[in-house]
Amino acid sequence: SHELRAPLTIVRGYISMFEEGVFGELSKEARRVLPTISSRVAQMNLLIDQMLDAARLEDSRMVVSARDVRADLVVQKVVSAFAGLRRAGQRLIVKNPMGELTVLADPEKLETIIANLVSNAIKYSPGGGDIRCVLASDAEVATISVQDQGIGIARADLDKLFTRFGRLERPETAHIEGTGLGLFLCRELARLQDGDISVESTLGKGSTFSLRLPVATAPAP
Ligand code: ADP
Repeated sequence: SHELRAPLTIVRGYISMFEEGVFGELSKEARRVLPTISSRVAQMNLLIDQMLDAARLEDSRMVVSARDVRADLVVQKVVSAFAGLRRAGQRLIVKNPMGELTVLADPEKLETIIANLVSNAIKYSPGGGDIRCVLASDAEVATISVQDQGIGIARADLDKLFTRFGRLERPETAHIEGTGLGLFLCRELARLQDGDISVESTLGKGSTFSLRLPVATAPAP
């Protein structure tokens, strides 16, 4: 997985340079396909992170180093990265009444968690609908929720979601690709950062996954 990551990092770097116009003005066609390339690479990165993190957790090599992180910027970055994966009728919306939201977290792990949640919201809303990333906070706890209007989850299945390789066997999702590792890792990573993750869902209506993390005591520079 480490060997896979290095070339992907280089590809991501070049994609950003194309997006920023470093290589000059792009043709209309190139501008049209760039978000898809970018999102597919983000998806590949997420899968590699899942493999690496699962292996690290298995043999207790997971290192989490928390520091002050601007959660609002991480959410924005993930939403931009995954925008190209949206299906017809899906809108990706960030609701952030807070402005700056600084949490105490490991920036890479925070990005992995939000990427998993946004990727799932897209995958499990085949009929479209709004996907909202909502930021909220009190003095001590910040909450980042990812809400979708997708297929939802039956109450009886909720416990299974956060288990290793836990995928729900349903005919309507049989064609949706996944490892069953994402939510397991999200919860483990959240707990290693003194946070947690929870879900509320109604079958056929949609789901809300809420990540809670400690608020940083002083704002990040
Ligand atoms: P996967 O790689 O299968 O998506 P996850 O661990 O991320 O694995 O999720 C576990 C299972 O939980 C999924 O297979 C799916 O059945 C269900 N699930 C996850 N997110 C959602 C969602 N937003 N809406 C409905 N079902 C979901």
